[in-house]
Amino acid sequence: MKIGVLGAGQLGRMLAQAGARLGMQFRFLSPPGETCVQGLGELLQGDLLDDALLDRFAADLDAVTIEWENVPTAAIERLARRVPVRPGVASLQCGQDRIHEKQFFRECGLQVQAFAPVDAPRDFEAALQAVPLPAMLKTRRMGYDGKGQAKVLTRASLADAFASLGSVPCILEAFVPFDSEISIVAVRGLDASGREDMRLWSACRNEHREGILDCTVAPASGIPDAAIQRAQAGVRTVLSRLRHEGVLAVEFFLCNGELIANEMAPRVHNSGHWTIEGARTSQFENHLRAVARMPLGDTAATGVSVMRNLIGVVPAPSAALPASVHLHLYGKQPRARRKLGHLTSVAQQESLAMSDADAAFAALHAQPASARG
Ligand code: AMP
Repeated sequence: MKIGVLGAGQLGRMLAQAGARLGMQFRFLSPPGETCVQGLGELLQGDLLDDALLDRFAADLDAVTIEWENVPTAAIERLARRVPVRPGVASLQCGQDRIHEKQFFRECGLQVQAFAPVDAPRDFEAALQAVPLPAMLKTRRMGYDGKGQAKVLTRASLADAFASLGSVPCILEAFVPFDSEISIVAVRGLDASGREDMRLWSACRNEHREGILDCTVAPASGIPDAAIQRAQAGVRTVLSRLRHEGVLAVEFFLCNGELIANEMAPRVHNSGHWTIEGARTSQFENHLRAVARMPLGDTAATGVSVMRNLIGVVPAPSAALPASVHLHLYGKQPRARRKLGHLTSVAQQESLAMSDADAAFAALHAQPASARG
């Protein structure tokens, strides 16, 4: 079976690594630039709106999927005339625009923080009426890892914040003084007769630094069961309504007992990387199973996992690692704030998983192979 992947970053790399064990072959299509998929399949690069390139990409593929949600929907629509594309356009459109995402969360019964569109300066006044300060101004599209965001503390600073983000269409949303952040990573697939199967991995507790995921603990500890159950129920609704096929993740804030949906990714997610070693079936394998309409695997956790991202620095490969720790390097050039790899520690107790992850992280950063980018 040959799978086409739109995008060729680290998520594509880990998809192909999981797919090799399912006997799958891969062809990647990405915009020009560095990729993480060397040696893992064919690679085509160019303009994703180039029809001839899309047709060359689609030839002899069994299915197409994405590892990057900002693929132009016109490209998906063209590909979908030739080959099944999973997930489909509905999931992508929802995940590409923060306003649509929040409206959709509400339709799914999830609570969201106060928000308003700021497409142009004429919207400033109405947005400031609707959203209490402090607030976050974010670009509606293309933002990730804290990029395309600015905190707005005073009414007067909204204009500067808008200009600093390039005066593109934005969303103003209330700043949430959260107690914790969690995510739910889930997969939905159809069997041969079209029956739906949905499976969820254990909830993840996430810590971000400067808007970038730093650490995930799963199963999430210290979070009320009722909040996790509400989050899980909401994600099931999201998956069903989108008729999503594949993995999808939703990130939530927990604030004074309230559960607030922040954003979703219609793809495999950084907070699900722990599932490679810490669950019976990883998010990458189950995503491919759903894309290929194969039976889904068991999502049960095998212990407690702690995942730490390796950001900005390529760690020394020779550093001693505890046996519980698994290191993934993506083969990217180092640059400040760039995700270059991650490590996952799995143990039967959170304290052990955490201390092994901390020890490995410290060892890996004691003698970096390359200087801080
Ligand atoms: P996002 O790109 O929306 O996932 O934002 C990245 C991270 O920035 C989040 O995981 C939070 O840690 C922080 N953040 C984003 N939006 C808000 C908000 N409205 N209130 C508080 N923190 C936020």
